[in-house]
Amino acid sequence: MIIAVDGPAASGKGTIAKALARHYSLPHLDTGLLYRAVAVSVMHAGGDPADAEDALLGCNFAAALLDDPALKTEAAGKAASLVSAHPQVREALLERQRDFATQTGGAVLDGRDIGTVIAPDADAKLFVTASSRVRAERRFREMQSMGQDVGFDAILADILARDERDSGRAAAPLRQAEDADLLDTSELGIDAAVQRAIALVEAQVADR
Ligand code: C5P
Repeated sequence: MIIAVDGPAASGKGTIAKALARHYSLPHLDTGLLYRAVAVSVMHAGGDPADAEDALLGCNFAAALLDDPALKTEAAGKAASLVSAHPQVREALLERQRDFATQTGGAVLDGRDIGTVIAPDADAKLFVTASSRVRAERRFREMQSMGQDVGFDAILADILARDERDSGRAAAPLRQAEDADLLDTSELGIDAAVQRAIALVEAQVADR
C-alpha cells in the first residue's frame, strides 16, 4: 500500500505520516529532508540556493547529510523552499522518491507533490493543513525546544512566504490532489489527528 501525505509547512503532515507508517508497518520517507539536504549542501559550498546551477550541484549530497541536525533549522527550510522551485532539482530527486514509493510492500511518503507527481496512483492520499497561525505556533514551540532563538513574528512571516513560494511555483506546486482527502489539524491534538488520518485511509482503501 502506498500512502501519500501532502501539505504546507508545520501542518502536522510529518507526524501523521510517521504514525501511519508505524500503524501499517510501512517504511516512511520525509521528502522535505531531501530538499533540505540539497539546500544545506549548496550553503556549505558557498552557493546560492536561488541559482539553478548551484542548486543542481547540491543534489549530489552525501547520504550522511540526511542525518545532520542542521537540516531542521529555519534557514535550511527557507533555502529548501528556494532550491525546490528549480525544475532540474525536482527532476534530480524524482527517481529516488518514486523508487521508495514503489518498493515491494508499499510505503508512506510526505511532502508537497506526493499525491500529484511522485505517486499519483497511491492507494490513499491525504492533504494535511492547518491555519497559518496554528502552524507558526507549532513551529515556534519546536524551535524553542531545539534551543533556536527565533521570534514568533519571524516564523509566521517565513511560513506565509513559504506557502506563497510553494503554491505559486510553476514546477509541481503545492496543491491538493483531486482524489486526496483534506485533513485540517488546526483544532486537533496529535492523537485525534492520527486517528482521523487512519480512518480516512481506511475509507479510501475500502473504496478502491
Ligand atoms: O516539509 P519541509 O518543510 O521539510 O520541506 C522544506 C521545503 O522543501 C518546502 O518548503 C518545499 O519548498 C520543499 N519541498 C518540496 N516538495 C516536497 C517536499 C518539500 O518542494 N515533496
